Amino acid sequence: MKSITPYRIGIGFDAHLLKQGRRLILGGVNIPGDLGLTGHSDADVLIHSLIDALLGAMALPDIGTLFPDTDAKYKDADSTSLLKVVLRIIKRSGGRVLQTDSSIITDLPRLTPFIPIIRQNLASIFQIPPDRIGLKAKTTEGTRIALARRSIAVISTALIYRGPR
Ligand code: MG
Repeated sequence: MKSITPYRIGIGFDAHLLKQGRRLILGGVNIPGDLGLTGHSDADVLIHSLIDALLGAMALPDIGTLFPDTDAKYKDADSTSLLKVVLRIIKRSGGRVLQTDSSIITDLPRLTPFIPIIRQNLASIFQIPPDRIGLKAKTTEGTRIALARRSIAVISTALIYRGPR
């Protein structure tokens, strides 16, 4: 089948519970505070949602299939290194990430002050300008989508260019 367009979009979602005594890492940046995210890996919920958006854009299996949490190898895994594996897979198949956009959803902790540094870090991982990385912190207005001090959810999209091979 002839390819209709070289542009591919993907969507990713992830959520993790907050807990005392864990580190809070978002987009590869350590966020100071008393709460962190629980999970098999470092629980970087932002990077996990971005990975799924990228894999979705390439119509590849999801993060849980690629890096199973039943595999001891991924215990406390650095999610940034998992993202770099995915970026290599995309590059190998002729793809190039043009843009991402994410909404981090939680009532507390307040993440807005950390948005610029997280964006900068993601831009350096993706090797694209920071103005290609959309990033927002959203509260839930009491809708209980991601409870204050209980959880953080993230939804992400990614745009990939993959020209003819
Ligand atoms: Mg996750």
